[in-house]
Amino acid sequence: MQVLYYSTRSAKEPVTASWAILKGLSEDGGLFVPDHVPALDKSLEELSRMSYQETAYEVMKLFLTDFTEEELKDCIRKAYDDKFDTREIAPLKEADGAYFLELFHGATIAFKDMALSILPHLLTVSARKNHITNQIVILTATSGDTGKAALAGFAEVEGTRIVVFYPKNGVSPIQERQMVTQKGANTYVVGIHGNFDDAQTGVKKIFSDKELEREMGEKGFQFSSANSINIGRLVPQIVYYVHAYGRLLAKGRLKAGEPMNVVVPTGNFGNILAAFYAKNMGLPIGKLICASNDNKVLYDFFATGVYDRNREFVLTTSPSMDILISSNLERLIYRIAGNDPVRNRELMASLSAGGRYEITPKMRERLGDFYGNFATEAEAAAAIARLYRDCGYVIDPHTAVAASVYEKYRQETGDGTPSVIASTASPFKFTRSVMEAIDPKYAAMKDFDLVDELSALAGVPVPPAIEEIRTAPVLHNHVCEAGEMKQVVKEFLGI
Ligand SMILES: *Cc1c(COP(=O)(O)O)cnc(C)c1O
Repeated sequence: MQVLYYSTRSAKEPVTASWAILKGLSEDGGLFVPDHVPALDKSLEELSRMSYQETAYEVMKLFLTDFTEEELKDCIRKAYDDKFDTREIAPLKEADGAYFLELFHGATIAFKDMALSILPHLLTVSARKNHITNQIVILTATSGDTGKAALAGFAEVEGTRIVVFYPKNGVSPIQERQMVTQKGANTYVVGIHGNFDDAQTGVKKIFSDKELEREMGEKGFQFSSANSINIGRLVPQIVYYVHAYGRLLAKGRLKAGEPMNVVVPTGNFGNILAAFYAKNMGLPIGKLICASNDNKVLYDFFATGVYDRNREFVLTTSPSMDILISSNLERLIYRIAGNDPVRNRELMASLSAGGRYEITPKMRERLGDFYGNFATEAEAAAAIARLYRDCGYVIDPHTAVAASVYEKYRQETGDGTPSVIASTASPFKFTRSVMEAIDPKYAAMKDFDLVDELSALAGVPVPPAIEEIRTAPVLHNHVCEAGEMKQVVKEFLGI
């Protein structure tokens, strides 16, 4: 049965999956949502015998119904290959009574790779299906992580170019090195004199520049976005929850049909929404445990029914979760509003005008699958130290927030359901915070020395993504003013 995609903000005609991927966002500013969540059509036992790639096909074919089997399998084969440092793609590690689902074995050692390694292929197929012959130009402003994952995903993908803008003095030295050493003739990395907001504003301005759009069209180019609200990023994220369940079943850790809980360190609400969709497909998921850091907007939302971004923004050691507007939450709001675009639009208007909205008691009742909590900086650091001390397992600060929240959940509820914790980054990506949590004495050591020390402690080799940047040549050294971004894009495209 075909799945079509509606906007969360209007009752306009729904569009095909490939069109939704190509557009990213609906023209009315809404997010695309499936008209129904398709049910898994393979048994759990069958799924438990499948490889990651086979599972990916079984899940994605149900959502991307205008893709042929050949197209989809080709995308999957190109995405989940030896860019990952393990053939398991997303291994499950048992530690401290939970299962850590390691989503960081891709090119940039963070979970964004799970979706960004396939999005470029879904996008080029979508362009072809909709008879678009222009080259797709991806523009991204990044505060660090997404930029590199997008670069790695799009590098050398035919029919695409990618330009990434980052704040020249606003990313970590390792993050900057990861980006400026990026290979691929279709990649372009530019530091701007300004902060992340300047970069973001500049990109938005370029996207809405009609004159530029016309010039680009004449030369055979058009823009697209690799933003986390694209359903081409959401759907691939459902896969690893289904696969994890299959692994637990295959290992005999649960019987078919018994529930597993999932714990997700959350920022933009994409990852946990994917788990929610997995549950709605019929995967036996019990609780969806939403873990926040000190920026605990979501915890407050689940506790009170009020979403309120009017608060101090806290910089933490889990920066990818330092978010006050969780964009993907809109898809859940639309749904608990009874798939009502009018009601959803009112709430989103209230969010953009006053930074706040409140859902009705009836809507709150529909949030029963979720449990929200948060971990402070000290609690997250303690979780890193405890897991290392008790199990010899080293986790990154984002995963630590989830581990700490899981601990609170267990104490509060006594629920012993097998639980999968989404491990969203390799500890090597946040070596300094991790090592200082294990022992304050490491504060004195240099970055790359800490990397070697972590490798020795954890008994894990240094991932290629880190090893590479020690010696890789700098290939991008462009710097510009925020006001020059449009000109820079035109130069790169030769228009
Ligand atoms: C992006 C990111 C998150 C947050 O994921 P969302 O889908 O935005 O909720 C958590 N941890 C890491 C390491 C990330 O990169």
